Amino acid sequence: MNQDCLFCKIIRGEVPSTKVYEDELVYGFKDINPAAPIHILVVPKKHVDSLAQITDQDETYIWAIHKAMNKIAEQQGFKENGYRVIVNCGKDSGQEVMHLHYHVLAGSKFGDKIV
Ligand code: 5GP
Ligand code: ZN
Repeated sequence: MNQDCLFCKIIRGEVPSTKVYEDELVYGFKDINPAAPIHILVVPKKHVDSLAQITDQDETYIWAIHKAMNKIAEQQGFKENGYRVIVNCGKDSGQEVMHLHYHVLAGSKFGDKIV
């Protein structure tokens, strides 16, 4: 945990958030500025700056995030229609919060394919 990190504060409950999912390793909450009808952020409970910083020690967290996204999709009812997952990594991507997070976007058909 990182004292000054916004998402660490959210995980600790020091900054309020709308929780949609939680387990031992992962926390999921609504993005404050949604870019889609459903926009959820899924983060490891361990502070990791970005995808570029992951190590073998983070393996269980990364797997847990992927399982959590599937559970969230099922629980929130968008598994069948589908969803988009985005991870910004580093300055060219526009990553603003330096705590690894997966954007899960759903609830509409996304017209623009970036990749
Ligand atoms: P990034 O640009 O780093 O990939 O994404 C950061 C995301 O965090 C943005 O989509 C932004 O709306 C969201 N965000 C920033 N501050 C807060 C906050 O205090 N609470 C919540 N729930 N989301 C936040
Ligand atoms: Zn953090």
